[in-house]
Amino acid sequence: MQQLEQLVSSLREEGFRITPQRVAILDYLLRTDDHPSAEYIHKIIKKKYPMVSLSTVYKTLNLLKEKKLVNEIEVNGESRFDADTDAHINLVCMKCGKIDDVDEDTLKEIQNRAAKKSKYLILKGNFELIGYCDSCKSKSI
Ligand SMILES: [Zn+2]
Repeated sequence: MQQLEQLVSSLREEGFRITPQRVAILDYLLRTDDHPSAEYIHKIIKKKYPMVSLSTVYKTLNLLKEKKLVNEIEVNGESRFDADTDAHINLVCMKCGKIDDVDEDTLKEIQNRAAKKSKYLILKGNFELIGYCDSCKSKSI
C-alpha cells in the first residue's frame, strides 16, 4: 500500500527503528475503520507476531501519536486509536463503545458554516459526538 510505504520510509528517515511489528500496527490502523483499543490491536497483531507484547503496542502507538499519524480518542475511560487524522467527527456510543465516522457531507457542511460565520480558514478539527448507537439507543431509554 502506497500510504503505508510512504509513512514507513518517512519514519525511517527520521531515525526511528522500524520493526515488522511496528509496520504491522500502522498497517492495521490504516486499514481499519474500527477505532480499536491498544488491547484489541495487540490481539490482532499477535496472530501474526505471537511474541509482540502489549507494551510494544503501546510504545508504537505513542510514537505514532507523537508523529501525528494517529489520533487518540478516549471513550468510557479507554483509549482508542484512529489513523484517520484528517478533519472528521466521530460518533461514539457510550454503551457498547462503537465508534463511527460522521459522513463527509455533514462534516463539510459544519466546516463551511463555521468558516463562513467566523471567517476562519479551517484546516483540521476532530471531535466527538457522544450518545447511543442505533442498536443501543432503544435499550437505554
Ligand atoms: Zn452501542
